[in-house]
Amino acid sequence: MSEIAGTSVAEGLGDRARELDAVDPLAGHRKLFALDEETVYLDGNSLGALPAHVPARMAEVIGREWGELRIRSWDESGWWTAPERIGDRIAPLVGAAPGQIVVGDSTSVNVFKAVVAAVRLAGEGRDEILVDATTFPTDGYLAASAARLTGKRLVPVAPGEAASAVGPGTAAVLLNHVDYRTGRLHDLPGITAAVRAAGALAIWDLCHSAGALPVGLDAHGVDLAVGCTYKYLNGGPGAPAFLYVAERHQAAFDSPLPGWTSHADPFGTTPEYAAADGAVRGRVGTPDILSMLALEAALDVWDGVAVEAVRAKSLALTDFFLECVAAYVPAGRVVPVTPEVHAERGSQVSLSCPEAPEVMRRLIERGVVGDLRRPDVLRFGFTPLYVGFADAERAARALAEVLAEVPAGARGAS
Ligand SMILES: *Cc1c(COP(=O)(O)O)cnc(C)c1O
Repeated sequence: MSEIAGTSVAEGLGDRARELDAVDPLAGHRKLFALDEETVYLDGNSLGALPAHVPARMAEVIGREWGELRIRSWDESGWWTAPERIGDRIAPLVGAAPGQIVVGDSTSVNVFKAVVAAVRLAGEGRDEILVDATTFPTDGYLAASAARLTGKRLVPVAPGEAASAVGPGTAAVLLNHVDYRTGRLHDLPGITAAVRAAGALAIWDLCHSAGALPVGLDAHGVDLAVGCTYKYLNGGPGAPAFLYVAERHQAAFDSPLPGWTSHADPFGTTPEYAAADGAVRGRVGTPDILSMLALEAALDVWDGVAVEAVRAKSLALTDFFLECVAAYVPAGRVVPVTPEVHAERGSQVSLSCPEAPEVMRRLIERGVVGDLRRPDVLRFGFTPLYVGFADAERAARALAEVLAEVPAGARGAS
């Protein structure tokens, strides 16, 4: 099965891809993005593609709102309330009722707010914070600092063991919903229930699930959550992150970064801090308006899109990509590390491959853009709003071609 171009296997899969694209209810969304036909973009889990209408909106924001209205735009252009307003746009995508999400700062900063606030909400007598041992590093660094600051012990746990590790001494548990490296989806409903049953708070990092799959924050009783908007939500490089505080915690939510914009009377310039009600309490300082409004415009691509439909296509795409890889790539050259089981799969496929650095370099040269997670993981993100089945087939075919050029055992320069 290792002969590639022109074989009946490739023709068969190429035909299947065309058929699947023809009946894909989301196929029409691709034209909403600035993408070229030469590139297969499988890195939307690092930086989502640009929605094509955003530059014109930003020209208006800069030229009219900043350039002409200037200070008046805080009110007249709705700048001041953008963090809550945009939070309410993200809310349905992660299963949250309005009034619980605020947009601003980076995910890293929001992890810090969430962990410290969760420890404060948990109250006295609980001396440990559990943290995902496989987490994207920033969450781990910040949880460690939050633990030192609050005088708690930091206990790393594998997400699969979090439900049994949580106990009466646990204040908070911070986990990634989807593992950024392997693409494994963790059991948010089950783990959240176990954490809450132990009297602790569950904090989820949704960076690799927001915009990729249904999260159900309210339905599953999540306490706090954070997430990125420049990955599957296409908000642009460095777009502000979001913070979810479940309504039942808002009155007691005590932010470790109580800036003036989360004050009940921000323009009262009083020396004492008094927190505003609701999601606004998660704000800190002046919002990053240009990035924030680029994100707001980018969210238009979700109008009329159910995240369930995105999930269905994501699973079909990743299944099909895995099938093409199995058909085209000689056995043993790559090993999928993303789970087969749908219930445990995010919206990416990671393949371990000893020659990964050289292979990814050559794939990108051929216009198949995924990324590398050192030392040996080839990572391909599938963004259902703009990636199609023909893209998946082409990427698998390019991978087989590149592997035919790179001998097994070659490590490459990078
Ligand atoms: C992408 C990602 C981040 C990014 O954090 P920034 O503060 O935006 O740099 C954090 N956590 C996880 C799990 C991520 O995947």
